[in-house]
Amino acid sequence: MRVQLVALYRALAARQMLIGSSGNVSARTDAGLLITPTGCEADTLSPDDLVPMDLDGGWQGPLRPSSEWALHAAIFCQDPKAQVIVHTHSDHATALSCLNRPLPAFHYNVAEFGGEDVRCAPYVTFGTPELARLAATAISGRTACLLANHGMICHGPSPAAALNSAIRLEALCRQYLLACAAGRPRLLSRAEMNDAIARYGSYGQQKDPPP
Ligand SMILES: [Zn+2]
Repeated sequence: MRVQLVALYRALAARQMLIGSSGNVSARTDAGLLITPTGCEADTLSPDDLVPMDLDGGWQGPLRPSSEWALHAAIFCQDPKAQVIVHTHSDHATALSCLNRPLPAFHYNVAEFGGEDVRCAPYVTFGTPELARLAATAISGRTACLLANHGMICHGPSPAAALNSAIRLEALCRQYLLACAAGRPRLLSRAEMNDAIARYGSYGQQKDPPP
């Protein structure tokens, strides 16, 4: 898992989704979680640098964990399906978060995050227990949320799934902002989104990739 988390972090960096060291990834472990250290750089990050933690903030090893560890811990505590978490300040998700708006049902692909929108948690200072609590509420029943004036966070059952989720959310935020720049996008109705959600459910059971 250490090697896979480093590969995940580098894949995010290669897609320009980590600005400097402003992003972090983690995986659930028996004892809590394994997370990238604070201030880490994709070029020099080594599997040995990842920090093992418990869910209350206790950590081991020479490097301090990401200052945003509590965000990750709150989601692991809340959702047993969350196995790998990605938090980034990727451009378009962050731009939308700065409008303090959710990603609405402008495209049926929004349903792949588990509902009719991707919510936006209210702004509070980074690294605080309050941000962790608000993010856990916003992501509840979903696999992603925006963090107002900050960025986004998403999870998946594996490193590959979490990477794919982060890439797809960033693309949808870009497409939504493009649509808003050109006009007022027609939002799908609740019935239309419910149909998409039901269809995603059957795709998941068949293990086919989403359309
Ligand atoms: Zn952040």
